[in-house]
Amino acid sequence: MSDCLFCRIVRKEIPASVVYEDDDLLVFNDINPQAPLHALVIPKRHIATLNDLSPQDDAVVGQMVRRAAAVAGEKGYAARGFRTVFNTNAEAGQTVFHIHLHVLAGRGLTWPPG
Ligand code: 5GP
Ligand code: ZN
Repeated sequence: MSDCLFCRIVRKEIPASVVYEDDDLLVFNDINPQAPLHALVIPKRHIATLNDLSPQDDAVVGQMVRRAAAVAGEKGYAARGFRTVFNTNAEAGQTVFHIHLHVLAGRGLTWPPG
């Protein structure tokens, strides 16, 4: 998906504050942070929404979830707590159609979300 914003970040065509990178994943800080830690964990391979996942994606989604916990832990939030969120489609507020796992921590996070 050449015109996808997050694919362009993966290709380094758009700068981002990268927290972690490996062959399958990229983690970078959200440009509009909603908490002291607000990172986005994405697969390098384009997947538009959770509705588009297939069994072949199970491994990378598992990597995403474990990496989210690792990033929170590295920042000191494992015990205090952190929130992980996937937004899917309009009513959930998805604005970038390349799946991303939000990792938020560092303040009291209310529930239910808005
Ligand atoms: P969504 O609303 O789709 O769940 O989340 C998209 C997130 O991407 C938002 O939190 C937004 O602030 C972030 N975002 C949008 N454009 C950029 C960008 O160019 N760079 C970075 N680092 N984050 C972005
Ligand atoms: Zn993409």
